[in-house]
Amino acid sequence: MTEHKYDLCVIGGGSGGVRAARIASTRYGKKVCLVESKKLGGTCVNVGCVPKKLFYYAAAFAENVQDATGFGWKCDQVAFSWPALIQNKNEEIARLNGVYNSILENSAVKVIEGKGRLKDAHTVVVDDGLEISADKILIATGSTPYVPSFPGAEACLVSDQMFSLDQLPKSIGIIGGGYIAVEFASLLCNLGVEVSLIYRGCCLLTGFDRDIGERLERALSSKGIKLIPDAVIESVGDGKSSKHIHLKGQPELEVEQVLLATGRVPMLAGLGLEDCKVALNEKGGILVNDDYQTSVSSIYAIGDVITRMALTPVAIEEAMVFVERAYEGKVPLINYDVIPTSVFTEPNVGTCGLSEVAAKAKYGDVAVYESEYRPLKATLSGRNTKEYMKVIVDKASDRVVGLHVLGYDAAEIVQGFGVAMLMGATKSQFDATVGIHPTSAEELVTLRTPRV
Ligand code: NDP
Repeated sequence: MTEHKYDLCVIGGGSGGVRAARIASTRYGKKVCLVESKKLGGTCVNVGCVPKKLFYYAAAFAENVQDATGFGWKCDQVAFSWPALIQNKNEEIARLNGVYNSILENSAVKVIEGKGRLKDAHTVVVDDGLEISADKILIATGSTPYVPSFPGAEACLVSDQMFSLDQLPKSIGIIGGGYIAVEFASLLCNLGVEVSLIYRGCCLLTGFDRDIGERLERALSSKGIKLIPDAVIESVGDGKSSKHIHLKGQPELEVEQVLLATGRVPMLAGLGLEDCKVALNEKGGILVNDDYQTSVSSIYAIGDVITRMALTPVAIEEAMVFVERAYEGKVPLINYDVIPTSVFTEPNVGTCGLSEVAAKAKYGDVAVYESEYRPLKATLSGRNTKEYMKVIVDKASDRVVGLHVLGYDAAEIVQGFGVAMLMGATKSQFDATVGIHPTSAEELVTLRTPRV
């Protein structure tokens, strides 16, 4: 059976695919269909950013309850229910799935359920049945957890499963030191789970500014998380009620669950890329040019499959740029050097621009401004928390090229500074900006003395 011709066929109903489909239809009047085999919303809505942030809030209450005592509250009888959290989260995610459905319906995008595969440069086959022809095809199938190969890997959990566990484990070994590993380590620890964070190399968050990584290591350690650096995993033994993690040259570790948080890989299986001669890049993602066009001129790709930055807002922005350039051709390209991002640990990390090492490599002569202090909230709470901020300036142009925050509201703070940095804000303009008192964010505009 052949479905008649569309202007655009999108494969993948995550944040990027849905945005591209909607804008192509509503702004440019294109006839659009979207092929998806699972629930709409992709990783972000179903097993990523959104449920993770809900878990993060749940976990933050644990510290808030402890901190409240110093502010005069009596919190003797508090109890946490994991099943209640899971149920409430499921209801919210189901609501969001419905919202995504309505968005597409109201935008006159036809949603086709099933797995899409490229047949040729203008044809997508759904579940080996329906054939869809389209002028342009957009691949936005996202990514999936990467599982390294070692004996017992199949007994470990990946992040997708963390959002539907029947019960909270008493103990967990988390393998990895990136976004997902530290976020789950922090929130599970707050919820009372005994956490061991097992990572290769010496450091957490390897791509981030080292001063942030080191301080996060200290913060997680002081929460009670056991940090196990320089770990080489040999195997995981699957017992009846526990798992045994075997590391090279280190004592065996017995835990209830093991989570693998070792990165994500683009979801390309079954797409028929080879048959259509769609070329891949050196990271194994789909190779695209500035217009997100692949080596086949009618086929485009955005989001995690192109392995640039695996972040939801980046996929959405890429969707916008793809549509605008495909149908109008006027919008500027994304500046990937100035993308704010956050790690939702407690305290959380907010960062935009270059690390100190990367800034020195790119600009040579940089000035570094930093501040570490006890936040006001910690005075009465008695919590031993320090916040840290760092601003990196290219001396030649006075432009702020890196901004890094570790603190309670780092993510919220850095979003606004991202606008200034995208506009090329200078340190003098930061200095001329009046602070809001008393906040943590004001530190960023009152840093006057560079580190020597
Ligand atoms: P990351 O790339 O952030 O981290 C992967 C971690 O696994 C690193 O510590 C890496 O070590 C380690 N690793 C990789 N391969 C192996 C291996 N074979 N053995 C042992 N360790 C290994 O990936 P995540 O899975 O944490 O997250 C995937 C992506 O999802 C992120 O990069 C991010 O783009 C996105 N994300 C964003 C979030 C946010 O915006 N807050 C939250 C969660 C995910 P090394 O550093 O040495 O390479």
